[in-house]
Amino acid sequence: MSMANGAPSLVVVEQLQVQFFGGAHPVRAVDGVSFDIAEGETVALVGESGCGKSVTAMALAKLVPQPPGHYAGGRVLFGGRDVLAMSERELRALRGREISYIFQEPGSALNPVFTIGYQIEEAIRLHRPEADSRAEALELMRLVGIPEPEQRLRAYPHALSGGQQQRVMIAMAIACRPKLLVADEPTTALDVTIQAQILDLLRDLQKRLGMAMLLITHNLGLVAETAHRVNVMYAGRLVESGATPDVLTSPRHPYTRALLEAVPRLEGAEGRLKAIEGNVPNPAELPAGCKFHPRCPYARERCRVGEPDWEFAATEARGVRCFFWKEISA
Ligand code: SF4
Repeated sequence: MSMANGAPSLVVVEQLQVQFFGGAHPVRAVDGVSFDIAEGETVALVGESGCGKSVTAMALAKLVPQPPGHYAGGRVLFGGRDVLAMSERELRALRGREISYIFQEPGSALNPVFTIGYQIEEAIRLHRPEADSRAEALELMRLVGIPEPEQRLRAYPHALSGGQQQRVMIAMAIACRPKLLVADEPTTALDVTIQAQILDLLRDLQKRLGMAMLLITHNLGLVAETAHRVNVMYAGRLVESGATPDVLTSPRHPYTRALLEAVPRLEGAEGRLKAIEGNVPNPAELPAGCKFHPRCPYARERCRVGEPDWEFAATEARGVRCFFWKEISA
């Protein structure tokens, strides 16, 4: 059962550890991350680039290349099946048929030498050879809101705007009617107004198709109307989790607060965006103690020497990793 809404868990990630080899020491890109996604639920994984959120997302379908990656511990269960123990054959069936991904740059993911129609039909043929790929492609174009779909199917990617290209990528990703759609920074490369339209589309599809979604983003502002629950990551670890309204209205971790202050707003352009002080730490040289202490305005001596544990309050379904969160949020 999911901790969220009583619906069965589709994905369960338990103490996942992913490391990368290359330098003198292994780099702990994901270090003991646990969360779940219920059937039909949207969960967000939020953090700056380099925090481990994309590696976590790739691990759900065992897509981290090995080497240099290495699954150093923990489990990923999809529909109760142990993904990290699956054979190549089982993984091929999982990817694309049950888990689909969309990424930030639709332009680079589409092949410039094939028409849109060919590429969508390929996605359909690959996963559902029994389907009428032409009719399905048209249906998918309509589903993702592309105008004049017959004409657009004959077009090449360069003839489409960035927003339409992302709609095509979404059409290809849902061609197999996945149980989980992983959307990794799906709107980052797009104009702000188009971002809102793509998020509306994803929300609409998620409801209509009843699929679960994992939204990966650095922008906490995007999760407000999209995700049911939020997990905030920093330096390969979860630092806060909870229902979206709770996390947005009463953030407990100083990093979540900083992310909220850094949310770009459409209106009120006079209000300057507050950048988070300092840089994301190099995963190969993480600081001792709380990994956020060099950037944390509340840091004290204790934070420099010891690392806070993950405190999870089942009654509130909220987790936080900070020694002083009660004082800070009082
Ligand atoms: Fe800041 Fe200390 Fe909390 Fe870390 S443990 S987030 S450094 S107050």
